[in-house]
Amino acid sequence: MVREQMAAPRWSGAPPVRDSRVLEVMRRTPRHLFVPAAQMSSAYEDRPLSIGHGQTISQPYMVAKMTELLETRKEHRVLEIGTGSGYQAAVLSPLAAEVYTIEILEPLGREARDRLRALGYKNVEVRIGDGYLGWPEKAPFDRIIVTAGAAEIPLPLVEQLVPGGRMVIPVGPHWQTQILKVITKGSRGPHDFRVEDVMPVAFVPLVREKKDN
Ligand code: SAH
Repeated sequence: MVREQMAAPRWSGAPPVRDSRVLEVMRRTPRHLFVPAAQMSSAYEDRPLSIGHGQTISQPYMVAKMTELLETRKEHRVLEIGTGSGYQAAVLSPLAAEVYTIEILEPLGREARDRLRALGYKNVEVRIGDGYLGWPEKAPFDRIIVTAGAAEIPLPLVEQLVPGGRMVIPVGPHWQTQILKVITKGSRGPHDFRVEDVMPVAFVPLVREKKDN
């Protein structure tokens, strides 16, 4: 998976993943334990897979690319929006000090929490809720990664970044192509940030209403 999909992606225009720390974590993280049993034999294929509730675990290449773009360091506190299976959080776990991750769909969030605990990911905390609003009690964060497509850049998330912090986020209309963006926060208040476009991507939508169970 790492040799064929990350280092030399066949997908035209996809920039290779070169960060050796990211490639090493991709080699070590057991993706087959994050997909439903029926999908296990496809776990290392170059595509997203269904994880139930209409949601998907992202394509391995995309997980690696977004992780590389995040430029996480060992001392960082990282926030992820869209826990899904918990795989992206597991990939971030050895690269950061603390990983906080928010999932809006309660059954998915609970499953991911149990799975991460069972696999021994001790520095990951899962919360059920609307990630658009971030996690104010745990803010600020050095890094934020959003793994669902946002209609616009969520300002509460920008506000919860440290000065100089980075956010990786797909932005664009729901169910169409989004643009993967890297946001870099400045030091002159919440509206001081720079936006860099990386490449077109397709994510499930970042939804707003909290689903009450
Ligand atoms: N990172 C995941 C895949 C994410 S799929 C993994 O590694 O498996 C996108 C996820 O975002 C879905 O589980 C979806 O339910 C969740 N989501 C959508 N809108 C959200 C919101 N506002 N807050 C938190 N999670 C959200």
